[in-house]
Amino acid sequence: MRCPFCQYPDNRVLESRSAESGHSVRRRRECLKCDRRFTTYERIEFVPVVVVKRNGDRESFDRSKLLRGMVRACEKTGVQHPQLENLVDEIEAELQQQSIREVPSSEIGELVLKHLQTLNEVAYIRFASVYQQFTGFNDFVDILSRLRSADLSPTEEPAESLAPPTTSSAEAESWQADATPSMTH
Ligand SMILES: [Zn+2]
Repeated sequence: MRCPFCQYPDNRVLESRSAESGHSVRRRRECLKCDRRFTTYERIEFVPVVVVKRNGDRESFDRSKLLRGMVRACEKTGVQHPQLENLVDEIEAELQQQSIREVPSSEIGELVLKHLQTLNEVAYIRFASVYQQFTGFNDFVDILSRLRSADLSPTEEPAESLAPPTTSSAEAESWQADATPSMTH
């Protein structure tokens, strides 16, 4: 960081302290040449993430949309809202720290699945059933068979009953809306 007065490149840090409610670090510096003092702020880089949908459309990453989908998937599973918000925070942070600014929607689905799997099994299966509209039916079957082979769901309904009747996105959405309450009777 060059001195704003004499442009000399080297300086020493006199003081570092947290600023902006912990979102940045404020550093008081002294130029090694002219001895004048100046202040710098260091922040985490925040760049908008663009989601590339399967049909090629692009839209900005919308955390509230992701949260809504996850809240729906986690209805009556015992997963608390703050847990989901934390999870969305983690996913958003992961996306933010990737060097690529455009992320396929399928990759976001994978991230959600990865996190949900550790959080709640029923929510994981439900989200996987919605996720098939991103990856295709065969991937969905793979996910379920992975669950079965790992013997993760011995007390749940058979995974077959969750299989969607169609792979079309629009119909899969309405199917998901109908199927969600029936899982928890
Ligand atoms: Zn200077």
